[in-house]
Amino acid sequence: MNGKITFTMIKPDAVANGHTGKIIDHIISKGFKIVAMKYTKLSKEIAGEFYGIHRERPFFNDLVAYMTAGTIVAMVLEKDNAVLDFREIIGATDPKNAAAGTIRNLYATSIEANAVHGSDSDENAAGEASFFFNAFERF
Ligand code: ATP
Ligand code: MG
Repeated sequence: MNGKITFTMIKPDAVANGHTGKIIDHIISKGFKIVAMKYTKLSKEIAGEFYGIHRERPFFNDLVAYMTAGTIVAMVLEKDNAVLDFREIIGATDPKNAAAGTIRNLYATSIEANAVHGSDSDENAAGEASFFFNAFERF
Protein backbone atom coordinates (compact mmCIF):
# COMPACT_ATOMS: atom_id res chain seq x y z
CA MET A 1 0.00 0.00 0.00
CA ASN A 2 1.48 3.32 -1.04
CA GLY A 3 1.48 6.32 1.31
CA LYS A 4 -1.15 9.00 1.70
CA ILE A 5 1.10 12.05 1.93
CA THR A 6 3.21 14.04 -0.51
CA PHE A 7 4.97 17.39 -0.27
CA THR A 8 4.90 20.14 -2.89
CA MET A 9 6.17 23.65 -3.45
CA ILE A 10 4.79 26.14 -5.93
CA LYS A 11 8.15 27.49 -7.13
CA PRO A 12 9.16 31.18 -7.47
CA ASP A 13 8.44 31.42 -11.21
CA ALA A 14 4.85 30.21 -10.83
CA VAL A 15 4.16 32.45 -7.82
CA ALA A 16 5.70 35.48 -9.59
CA ASN A 17 3.72 34.73 -12.75
CA GLY A 18 0.43 34.76 -10.82
CA HIS A 19 -0.33 31.03 -11.11
CA THR A 20 -0.65 30.22 -7.39
CA GLY A 21 -4.46 30.16 -7.25
CA LYS A 22 -4.86 28.17 -10.46
CA ILE A 23 -2.30 25.59 -9.34
CA ILE A 24 -3.95 25.15 -5.93
CA ASP A 25 -7.32 24.76 -7.67
CA HIS A 26 -5.83 22.20 -10.07
CA ILE A 27 -4.40 20.18 -7.17
CA ILE A 28 -7.70 20.19 -5.24
CA SER A 29 -9.67 19.27 -8.38
CA LYS A 30 -7.51 16.14 -8.75
CA GLY A 31 -8.61 14.88 -5.33
CA PHE A 32 -5.76 16.04 -3.09
CA LYS A 33 -6.56 17.48 0.33
CA ILE A 34 -4.29 20.27 1.60
CA VAL A 35 -3.26 19.36 5.16
CA ALA A 36 -0.65 22.13 5.60
CA MET A 37 0.22 25.27 3.64
CA LYS A 38 2.77 28.05 4.05
CA TYR A 39 3.81 31.10 1.99
CA THR A 40 7.54 31.67 2.51
CA LYS A 41 10.91 32.46 0.95
CA LEU A 42 13.82 30.01 1.07
CA SER A 43 17.29 30.98 2.29
CA LYS A 44 20.33 29.68 0.38
CA GLU A 45 20.99 27.30 3.28
CA ILE A 46 17.47 25.86 3.28
CA ALA A 47 17.32 25.54 -0.53
CA GLY A 48 20.77 23.91 -0.59
CA GLU A 49 19.75 21.44 2.09
CA PHE A 50 16.44 20.68 0.41
CA TYR A 51 18.13 19.93 -2.94
CA GLY A 52 21.27 18.47 -1.30
CA ILE A 53 20.96 15.34 -3.42
CA HIS A 54 21.82 17.51 -6.47
CA ARG A 55 24.85 19.21 -4.85
CA GLU A 56 27.33 17.70 -7.35
CA ARG A 57 25.19 18.42 -10.43
CA PRO A 58 26.30 21.24 -12.80
CA PHE A 59 23.00 23.08 -12.34
CA PHE A 60 23.10 23.10 -8.50
CA ASN A 61 24.17 26.75 -7.97
CA ASP A 62 21.64 27.99 -10.53
CA LEU A 63 18.94 25.86 -8.92
CA VAL A 64 19.62 27.36 -5.48
CA ALA A 65 19.68 30.89 -6.92
CA TYR A 66 16.39 30.28 -8.70
CA MET A 67 14.67 28.69 -5.69
CA THR A 68 15.68 31.63 -3.45
CA ALA A 69 14.71 34.34 -5.96
CA GLY A 70 11.16 34.81 -4.72
CA THR A 71 8.36 33.56 -2.53
CA ILE A 72 7.16 29.97 -2.70
CA VAL A 73 4.09 28.13 -1.40
CA ALA A 74 4.86 24.90 0.48
CA MET A 75 2.10 22.33 1.02
CA VAL A 76 1.54 18.87 2.43
CA LEU A 77 -1.06 17.00 0.41
CA GLU A 78 -3.11 13.94 1.33
CA LYS A 79 -4.56 11.33 -1.03
CA ASP A 80 -4.29 7.58 -1.52
CA ASN A 81 -1.11 6.87 -3.55
CA ALA A 82 -0.20 10.54 -3.09
CA VAL A 83 3.43 10.55 -4.30
CA LEU A 84 2.86 8.75 -7.60
CA ASP A 85 -0.49 10.38 -8.36
CA PHE A 86 1.01 13.83 -7.75
CA ARG A 87 4.03 13.14 -9.99
CA GLU A 88 1.48 12.16 -12.63
CA ILE A 89 -0.46 15.44 -12.45
CA ILE A 90 2.66 17.65 -12.43
CA GLY A 91 4.26 16.02 -15.51
CA ALA A 92 7.89 15.58 -16.55
CA THR A 93 10.72 17.72 -15.12
CA ASP A 94 11.24 19.43 -18.48
CA PRO A 95 7.96 21.11 -19.50
CA LYS A 96 8.78 20.26 -23.14
CA ASN A 97 8.22 16.63 -22.18
CA ALA A 98 5.29 17.20 -19.80
CA ALA A 99 2.02 15.64 -20.95
CA ALA A 100 -0.80 17.94 -22.05
CA GLY A 101 -2.88 19.25 -19.16
CA THR A 102 -0.23 18.60 -16.48
CA ILE A 103 0.77 21.47 -14.18
CA ARG A 104 4.22 21.80 -15.73
CA ASN A 105 2.75 21.69 -19.24
CA LEU A 106 0.35 24.48 -18.31
CA TYR A 107 2.52 26.72 -16.13
CA ALA A 108 6.27 25.91 -16.32
CA THR A 109 8.63 28.03 -18.42
CA SER A 110 11.82 25.89 -18.52
CA ILE A 111 13.45 22.73 -17.11
CA GLU A 112 14.67 24.87 -14.19
CA ALA A 113 11.68 27.17 -13.73
CA ASN A 114 9.25 24.27 -13.76
CA ALA A 115 6.45 25.66 -11.58
CA VAL A 116 6.19 22.96 -8.90
CA HIS A 117 8.10 20.42 -6.86
CA GLY A 118 6.74 16.98 -6.03
CA SER A 119 8.29 14.42 -3.67
CA ASP A 120 9.73 11.35 -5.40
CA SER A 121 9.15 8.71 -2.68
CA ASP A 122 7.08 8.14 0.45
CA GLU A 123 10.25 8.39 2.54
CA ASN A 124 11.25 11.74 1.01
CA ALA A 125 7.66 13.02 1.27
CA ALA A 126 7.66 12.38 5.02
CA GLY A 127 11.09 13.99 5.42
CA GLU A 128 10.24 17.04 3.31
CA ALA A 129 6.90 17.55 5.08
CA SER A 130 8.54 17.59 8.50
CA PHE A 131 11.42 19.75 7.20
CA PHE A 132 8.85 22.48 6.43
CA PHE A 133 6.04 21.95 8.97
CA ASN A 134 5.89 21.14 12.66
CA ALA A 135 3.12 19.05 14.23
CA PHE A 136 0.98 22.11 15.04
CA GLU A 137 0.96 23.24 11.41
CA ARG A 138 -0.43 19.97 10.01
CA PHE A 139 -3.97 18.78 10.53
P1 ATP B 1 11.50 18.38 -8.20
O1 ATP B 1 12.45 17.60 -7.33
O2 ATP B 1 11.65 19.88 -8.06
O3 ATP B 1 10.08 17.92 -8.04
P2 ATP B 1 12.07 16.64 -10.39
O4 ATP B 1 12.02 15.56 -9.37
O5 ATP B 1 11.13 16.53 -11.56
O6 ATP B 1 11.83 18.06 -9.72
P3 ATP B 1 14.93 16.61 -10.17
O7 ATP B 1 15.78 15.74 -11.04
O8 ATP B 1 14.70 16.21 -8.75
O9 ATP B 1 13.54 16.80 -10.94
O10 ATP B 1 15.55 18.07 -10.23
C1 ATP B 1 15.24 19.03 -9.22
C2 ATP B 1 15.07 20.38 -9.88
O11 ATP B 1 16.31 20.80 -10.41
C3 ATP B 1 14.13 20.39 -11.09
O12 ATP B 1 12.78 20.48 -10.75
C4 ATP B 1 14.60 21.62 -11.82
O13 ATP B 1 14.10 22.82 -11.20
C5 ATP B 1 16.10 21.55 -11.60
N1 ATP B 1 16.77 20.82 -12.69
C6 ATP B 1 16.77 19.49 -12.94
N2 ATP B 1 17.50 19.17 -14.02
C7 ATP B 1 17.98 20.36 -14.49
C8 ATP B 1 18.80 20.72 -15.59
N3 ATP B 1 19.28 19.81 -16.43
N4 ATP B 1 19.08 22.04 -15.75
C9 ATP B 1 18.62 22.97 -14.90
N5 ATP B 1 17.83 22.69 -13.84
C10 ATP B 1 17.51 21.41 -13.64
MG1 MG C 1 13.08 15.63 -7.55
